Amino acid sequence: MAFFKNIHHPKWKQYLISILLVFLISTTCFLLNEYIGNKTVALIFLVMVSFIALTFDILPVLLTATLSALIWNFFFIPPLFTFHINSAEDILMFFVYFAIAVVNAGFTFKIRKEEIKAREKEEKLKSIKLYNTLINCLSHELKTPISTIMASVDTMMEQEDKLSADVQKELLSEINTASIRLNRQVENLLNMNRLESGFLKLKFIWSDINELIFTVIQKLEPLKNEHSIIYKPSDELPLCKIDEGLIEQVLYNLVHNAIIYTPEGTTITIKFSVHDSHCKIIVSDNGPGIPKDELDHVFKKFYRVTGSKSGGTGLGLSIVKGFVSAHNGTVTVENLPKGCQFIVRIPCETSYINQLNNE
Ligand code: ADP
Repeated sequence: MAFFKNIHHPKWKQYLISILLVFLISTTCFLLNEYIGNKTVALIFLVMVSFIALTFDILPVLLTATLSALIWNFFFIPPLFTFHINSAEDILMFFVYFAIAVVNAGFTFKIRKEEIKAREKEEKLKSIKLYNTLINCLSHELKTPISTIMASVDTMMEQEDKLSADVQKELLSEINTASIRLNRQVENLLNMNRLESGFLKLKFIWSDINELIFTVIQKLEPLKNEHSIIYKPSDELPLCKIDEGLIEQVLYNLVHNAIIYTPEGTTITIKFSVHDSHCKIIVSDNGPGIPKDELDHVFKKFYRVTGSKSGGTGLGLSIVKGFVSAHNGTVTVENLPKGCQFIVRIPCETSYINQLNNE
């Protein structure tokens, strides 16, 4: 049935399939004609035309209707093997069959077209809704850090001499945090755009994932406050061939979320291991976890867990999923007795640095 659902077959394929189907059904009916009679054959032909009309364009459907009418006349209406029809009743039946087939074809085609139109309208409304959601989130997400930066810079410029070193340090730290927030949203938007446009081209390089994890931890240092981030690196692990930029972003988004959506004092643990044909990164925390009935939705674009603290556009995890999928990998999330864990599996080549040097 999946075949029939695909309405985008090229025209030549639609004609070919229609003709083949007519011949297949005609042959089958011809062999069974003795048992089923020519009126049942007409009904079977009508069902076939309706099926074709559910999927194909109007011209192949009309071809099916005409061809099946002619075949019905030639092979099934007496006298057989001629286009001549003897009885007035059979002539009437032939024209009624043809009329029903054509009207049926036209009608089904029209209904399908209306359905497609309604679906397109629904899609359009959905994207307008998504666009509005994005604009609403963004206006808040971009405006808040920009206001913080402007206010802090204003204070520093106007009261340059009067501010103590501590206050200046605090203002600079606020500017720093706001810039990171701003940068994250812009990065998320650009990344989403790369994913949506289909222009994401992976640049695979031999990468030391230990190093990549440390880079992410360092980048998130200014945001982590009282959270502790634990990662025990292993010296013996091989290099992995991945797109470093994308996997860094994946890890950044996961650890960033673990900082944002868990209370101060939470422990965030990163684990990295290499298996036969893939590498595995686990980011877990002992925070509140994710409500069970929302676990399946968190990777959807713009999805935010009910009651999530303000800030955030619901793009972070959909980017994680997009970048991991681009590596043919998987990302899953599950709750722990306390907290939750995200597991990223990426199929990749691995090699030790000395093996690479010997090549
Ligand atoms: P955003 O952070 O912009 O809301 P994400 O796609 O990154 O979007 O996250 C989707 C939702 O998943 C968030 O709204 C948050 O509630 C939830 N979430 C993500 N990571 C965690 C975590 N470690 N603990 C609890 N909730 C989380």
